[in-house]
Amino acid sequence: MEKIRMTTPLVEMDGDEMTRILWADIKKELLEPYIDLKTEYYDLGLPHREKTHDQVTIDSANATKKYGVAVKCATITPNAQRLEEYQLSQMWKSPNGTIRSILDGTVFRTPIMVKGISPVVRNWKKPITIARHAYGDVYKNTELQPQGPGKAELVFTDEAGRETRQTIFDFQGPGVLQGQYNTDRSISSFARSCFQYALDARQELWFAAKDTISKQYDHRFKDIFQEIFEAEYKDKFAQAGIGYFYTLIDDAVARVIRSEGGFIWACKNYDGDVMSDMVSTAFGSLAMMTSVLVSPEGNYEYEAAHGTVTRHYYRYLKGEETSTNPMATLFAWTGALRKRGELDNIPALGQFADKLEAASIAVIEGGVMTRDLSALWEGEAPARVVTSRDFLGAVRAQLEKTP
Ligand code: NAP
Ligand code: MG
Repeated sequence: MEKIRMTTPLVEMDGDEMTRILWADIKKELLEPYIDLKTEYYDLGLPHREKTHDQVTIDSANATKKYGVAVKCATITPNAQRLEEYQLSQMWKSPNGTIRSILDGTVFRTPIMVKGISPVVRNWKKPITIARHAYGDVYKNTELQPQGPGKAELVFTDEAGRETRQTIFDFQGPGVLQGQYNTDRSISSFARSCFQYALDARQELWFAAKDTISKQYDHRFKDIFQEIFEAEYKDKFAQAGIGYFYTLIDDAVARVIRSEGGFIWACKNYDGDVMSDMVSTAFGSLAMMTSVLVSPEGNYEYEAAHGTVTRHYYRYLKGEETSTNPMATLFAWTGALRKRGELDNIPALGQFADKLEAASIAVIEGGVMTRDLSALWEGEAPARVVTSRDFLGAVRAQLEKTP
């Protein structure tokens, strides 16, 4: 069979530990036999980040700007223990943080649904994608603990030196105090990423905040979304037959639970942090959660939502076969290939991605799965727990069977 040709390389960001092993296996078993795989390779594995003083992470993000599509393996974010384990010269920053600050994007997380593993919320029939604004608010706050009585004020000094001053609170005793900010620029790019993603996915977009209480801060988010929608997306949404709607965050939570899914939920930074863990847990497993970073310029970086699965890797190093779930990593590849196919007008790439995803889902629905899923399995056939390698082999066999 002739392999599918690519014209533009994918930016390939290799990673660490168990996911690095899965990465190589996925390429060898499921991609290279079918695609004349063109990638520009960046090794974001911790040893190579150390060797290049993390320059490789910056280079890989810049390459993503150049080519438009990247696929990333999970990577270690160093902590004190890793500093020792990998003999690092310093505690390198989170690669995801570095990449995000260069691409300035929004992260969209979507669960992979299979029959036989039902969401905890019974009426969820379709995936819910969470878009988290990953900038500012409480994550860039300034905090204080007044030790006794005193006046807290909010002061803004403009470039000309003019002050605006408001009393926050007259403390009669000790307490706590916090300042937060966001920028129109970041909120606008968040909004554009969400509208663009919704158009691509042809799904409705929801956005929620608390503008009734936060009449300036949250209201600014609501206004920016509305302005950009009216000016740039209203007609496109109408053509695509999708809608945008804003509601209060507490109303959104209730609606999400009652919904059947199939939409994108844009969340402010903190809401997205909390709600993405709730939604992903309710859908089943972190190992079945995909993630894509979309920049306002239309660059895409696909990855799994989970980490490097360290515990399994230590077992692997002892020579044990592991039953680590490769689905989210596999879907990072199919997502990237599909997008590359779209941008380069190579329909065969998108068709292959669809076929590969369908084959992997069919394997699980047939009762063959990694250990993490067997605990959630409610299918008719008893679950057969296999190693990662055997799972990929089963997907390959299924793929070969598909016309
Ligand atoms: P993790 O790698 O997501 O794994 C946590 C646990 O979740 C695992 O021990 C395993 O549970 C289960 N799990 C996660 N993915 C799985 C999969 N594909 N198949 C089967 N089980 C899976 O999180 P972590 O242990 O907290 O972090 C490990 C490393 O990953 C850290 O160095 C962290 O910095 C990094 N990390 C990277 C990213 C990223 O690159 N995007 C994200 C998060 C964390 P059992 O052990 O019970 O089987
Ligand atoms: Mg969190």
